[in-house]
Amino acid sequence: MECTWKSTDEWAALDSVPAKDAEALVGVGVRTVGDLLDWFPRRYEDRRHFDAFPAQAGGGAVCLRGLVIDSMKKRLGGKRSFYEIVVEEQGGNVLSTNTIACRWFNMPYLHRMVAAGHEVILYGKPKEYGGRLLMDHPEFEVVKEGERESLHLERIVPVYRNVSGIPQRRLRELVYRCLENLDGASVAPVYPLVPGQDRKAALWAVHFPESMEATNAARREFAREEFLVLQVNVLWRRKLFKAHEGRAQGKRTVLLKAFYESLPFDLTGAQKRSVKEVAADMREGRPMNRLLQGDVGSGKTFVAMCAMLLAVDSGAQAALMVPTQILAEQHFLTFRKWLEPLGVRVALVTGAKQESGSLELEGAPQIVIGTHALIYDNVAFEDLGLVVIDEQHKFGVSQRGRLIRQGVMPDALVMTATPIPRTLTLTIYGDLDVSVLDELPAGRGKIVTALRVKPKVGDVAKFVKEQLAEGRQVYLVYPLVEESESVKGLSATTEYEKWAKRLGGYEVGLLHGKMPPEEKDRVMGRFREGELQVLVATTVVEVGVDVANANLMIVHNAERFGLAQLHQLRGRIGRGAFKSYCILLTDGKSAEGMEKLEVMVATLDGFKIAEEDLRLRGPGEVLGTAQSGISDLRFVDYLADTGLLREARGLAEEVLEKDPELREWPRLRALVSEGGRVEVS
Ligand code: ADP
Ligand code: MG
Repeated sequence: MECTWKSTDEWAALDSVPAKDAEALVGVGVRTVGDLLDWFPRRYEDRRHFDAFPAQAGGGAVCLRGLVIDSMKKRLGGKRSFYEIVVEEQGGNVLSTNTIACRWFNMPYLHRMVAAGHEVILYGKPKEYGGRLLMDHPEFEVVKEGERESLHLERIVPVYRNVSGIPQRRLRELVYRCLENLDGASVAPVYPLVPGQDRKAALWAVHFPESMEATNAARREFAREEFLVLQVNVLWRRKLFKAHEGRAQGKRTVLLKAFYESLPFDLTGAQKRSVKEVAADMREGRPMNRLLQGDVGSGKTFVAMCAMLLAVDSGAQAALMVPTQILAEQHFLTFRKWLEPLGVRVALVTGAKQESGSLELEGAPQIVIGTHALIYDNVAFEDLGLVVIDEQHKFGVSQRGRLIRQGVMPDALVMTATPIPRTLTLTIYGDLDVSVLDELPAGRGKIVTALRVKPKVGDVAKFVKEQLAEGRQVYLVYPLVEESESVKGLSATTEYEKWAKRLGGYEVGLLHGKMPPEEKDRVMGRFREGELQVLVATTVVEVGVDVANANLMIVHNAERFGLAQLHQLRGRIGRGAFKSYCILLTDGKSAEGMEKLEVMVATLDGFKIAEEDLRLRGPGEVLGTAQSGISDLRFVDYLADTGLLREARGLAEEVLEKDPELREWPRLRALVSEGGRVEVS
């Protein structure tokens, strides 16, 4: 069997792979030998030393080897049954033999695969049940006498993602055969990262490592290559974008000056700097593609307003797209308040309503604020010159691209309040220029964060009443909309009833994502106007809601929320001059939960919280799948390896500088996105 890297031969062309296996492999997207070798093990088992049979449950997963001494089918009530084997440790203690039971539920065919007399390797997490040690649904392999046993024993063994129909052993043997027959010359890296790099050796180290150090080093090498491609891609897109004809706008500053004069406060230094950077971009004849990063409350909206006024002053229209109806409404009010006195026409477009700033709106709106409806409801812009996207992480790349394509290459400003560590910014937003608001407006009250384990309702209510008596407003946040049998936790709907009774004399409102948009608007409006003093809510209040008089937030089942979410939630308070309180309530049962909540208590700094989040959960979880390109990364976990990222960025810049068209590196060139279609980020 001759194998080449990325060979396009389908399995069918290889007689040595049975059709049934080939079909199963294609089913999981592994179509060729190259695909298979690219399919890295999910984990490894060091079968040179097996774990001792545990004496008690409570530790982590173990890898055991033993003899099946008993096997039986057992009935539960009704039709349910399970299959059980009892495995004995071999060569164990002479005085006492250790055993462990394994159970599989509703898998009756298992008795044909493993039974008394077999020698097995087990991987799973032991638990105690009915006074016995057992593992439910462990991964297992039956040791067979025979030819390739050396592949599966006495070595570090790869364990792949399950392919139904192909046992791990057969998969392992197939990978081994492919590697054996691989033509080393066909697996050159897309770019020689290290002179004399031996790709075939690296593949051996990934699939059949001599040591874990060797496999880690090899994986890192592949990760480095992946990041290099990513960075070349990002820089390439950036170059393409910059090559577009844009509009030079924003020279006239009459409106901007009038706006500054009308403000009762000065912009912060960071806001001024950002406005300058934005204005400079807009005045260039190339399209702006800029990210404005700033913690909640840092005043991004005002920077956006300045940019939009510059566009309007040049005779163009500007659009602001936000992720939720509530936020669109709120921005609409803010914009009208500040910009209508300057004679600027503002309109609102959401799924629910189209509304103009003033009834006698003469001529087309100059500023349009809206949700996704801006893209999908065929809003006709006459001359869209600037697109601003708020809370940009809530939108996918294509949605952004769609709005931007509505204008003749309009300038684009995307804003995010989700702080991400600097090196990650390079990766995800690497093709954007970045402005940072690293300074909060003056005159903000302090925020005190406290963690309370199993608090008494009476104490909580007392504190709420104290703040209300001072004339403040309060958010009470819950993880669930309604009570649920399957998910534990308190619900806004049920607790709302209780609070309404408890706080007789005060107006309590309910806000959650399942309410119809008009209802949400109404409730939010009443809270904003101070008609409601208390808002019982889910995370719908997370994004952008701005009520300066609210100074207390109590988060119930706080362990159920992510760090980024908690940070966003906390950003709803501390917006006015009052001292504010964020109280996190938890049952304290989860150690991880407590560690997370302690981070919230320790710092208000969004960047620090983001770094901790990354450390605790890893990049894959933190960034989510909506983020551009990240979901396609094979080495997501290496995103935490800042050294590797920096190196890749530097190298990508170097490569493109020396060879801007990548003529020397056709494979690298083939991997970067083709020209023509331009996406923002
Ligand atoms: P972000 O969108 O970054 O969370 P906003 O733009 O909504 O922040 O601003 C938060 C609050 O701060 C608003 O109430 C706004 O009126 C106020 N604000 C913004 N800039 C300043 C400033 N320079 N000085 C005082 N208050 C400001
Ligand atoms: Mg905002």
